[in-house]
Order: sequence, then structure tokens, then C-alpha cells
Amino acid sequence: MLEAAPLPDHSWPKMEPGWVWLCGAGPGDPGLLTLHALNALKQADVVIYDALVQQTILTWASQAEHIYAGKRGGKPSAKQRDISLRLVDLARAGKRVLRLKGGDPFVFGRGGEEAQTLVQHGIPIRIIPGVSAGIGGLAYAGIPVTHRDVNQSVTFVTGHDQSGNVTGSLDWPSISRGSQVIVIYMGMKHIAHIAGELIKAGRSLAEPVAVVSTATTEDQKVLETTLGTVVDDITRTGMEPPSIICVGRSVLMRQVLDWQGMAAGDAPRNLDPLERGKPAESA
Ligand code: SAH
Repeated sequence: MLEAAPLPDHSWPKMEPGWVWLCGAGPGDPGLLTLHALNALKQADVVIYDALVQQTILTWASQAEHIYAGKRGGKPSAKQRDISLRLVDLARAGKRVLRLKGGDPFVFGRGGEEAQTLVQHGIPIRIIPGVSAGIGGLAYAGIPVTHRDVNQSVTFVTGHDQSGNVTGSLDWPSISRGSQVIVIYMGMKHIAHIAGELIKAGRSLAEPVAVVSTATTEDQKVLETTLGTVVDDITRTGMEPPSIICVGRSVLMRQVLDWQGMAAGDAPRNLDPLERGKPAESA
């Protein structure tokens, strides 16, 4: 079993009985936990964790009871309300409760809903942000979520709503026009619809797209494709959720920034994928 390294010297907050700490676990790689998360893992009586939280991380809370509250699209899952009320019950029983969620708890993770229920029931909370898959997962694939030559904004969207249906409230023409880079969470189920909407709204069939599956874990897979071919390529390569889909020219930067490939001995494919011609001047 893995032993957690001691925390550096600092006055780390103490978890009091009856509190719930709602905490991001990052996208996968245990090294992407925050020190606040590690501090919480060491003190908790109970850890309630989601499907995307790695087992290694749980071993750092070996003193705690571990409760699985997994929710994965399309699969049977604990009801959101049941999870929130369970947190209330555990806190009222005087436990130090750590609610551990994949990525960042407030990014498409219903952390806000859980936190609200806790506050409504008078339970004191602390929020610990985490590295979100749409940023950290792309970074592990060598894709900068913003890059000066490509985008001055980025849009994070979710591919489906609570019931698993395609998100009806998204204004694809506006997103398409207004955002050079679009990062899609939970996009695999409805990728045909999403790609279709973007193309209909005027994005090029040749626009670069990356699909990063189980990002930051040992099983990370990256598919580089285009808006016109993404649907067929996902099927052909067997890419599966959980995946982050990135639409935009920043995907091209992977040709020079695939640091994992380079660490494994690959040469960079293209030192100047955006054809800037010379290294960026400092701003
Ligand atoms: N709160 C999380 C997102 C939860 S929604 C965060 O901030 O990252 C779940 C979706 O997140 C998945 O469907 C997938 O799109 C994305 N996701 C989470 N972890 C991922 C990973 N390791 N690799 C790729 N996508 C991931």
C-alpha cells in the first residue's frame, strides 16, 4: 500500500466533526491532488467518492470509511438527492466527512447542488477546488487550453444534461461564432449531434479536434482528428468515456507539445504547428 508523504510545514486547516469538505480529486493522476485535499484525506472519518476518483488516492485515507457514490452517464447510479442527504446524515452523526469528486467539484460536478443542500441543512462546509479535466487533462495531452496565437477565450460545455439527453439550452451558433476553442465535457454520447451543430453553425470540417480519454491516468489515450471525421474516428479507434473533447486550433500545439510522447522517445512532429515562423516574442 502507498504511504502518503508527510505534508510540508504549514498550518493546515483542521477537519472538525460534523463538517463536510467538498473536495476536487483532480482528473486522475494522484499527483494532481492539492495539498488541501491530501490534508483532508488524512483527517476524514468518511470519504464519499465518485467513479472517477483513483484508488491510490483513497489509500491515503486508510483510516477512513470509504463509501462509493459513483455516477456515470447511462449506468445505474446513486441518486443525487440521496448522496446529498447521506452527507447531511453523516455530518449530523458527528463525522468528519470528505466528499471527494473527480476534477473540480464546481465544474460540471454538481458540487454546487451538494454544497447548497448541506448549507440548507445547517451543515458547515469547506470547498477545496481541484484540477479540472478540461484544463489538466488537455495539458497532459500537450494541448494548452489557451494559447496566445489561437484563442483569447475558451468555452466549457457539457454534452448532455441531467437526464443524459443532449443539452437543449446550448446556443451552438453563438458558441460557434464566439469561441475559438470549445472544451466539451460528457460529449461522447452526443458527439454526432454536437459536431453536426458546430458544422451547421459554420465551423470548418477541417477544424482540429482532440479526444482525450482517461486523461492523466496510465490509460490515457489521445485521438487527433477533425470536426468532419471525429464521429467515425471515435468509432474506429474505440475511444470511450470519460473523455474530454477539444475543438479548435490549440489542438495543433500537440504536434510540438506532446511531452509524454517526447518523454517516451518520440521526436516532436512539428516545431511550428501554427506556422508563426519564429518563437513568440515575450509580451
Ligand atoms: N468535475 C469534473 C467533471 C465531471 S463531469 C472536472 O472538473 O473534471 C464528467 C466528465 O468529465 C466526463 O464525462 C469527462 O468528459 C470529463 N472527465 C473527467 N475526468 C476525466 C479524465 N480523466 N479524462 C477525460 N475526461 C474526463
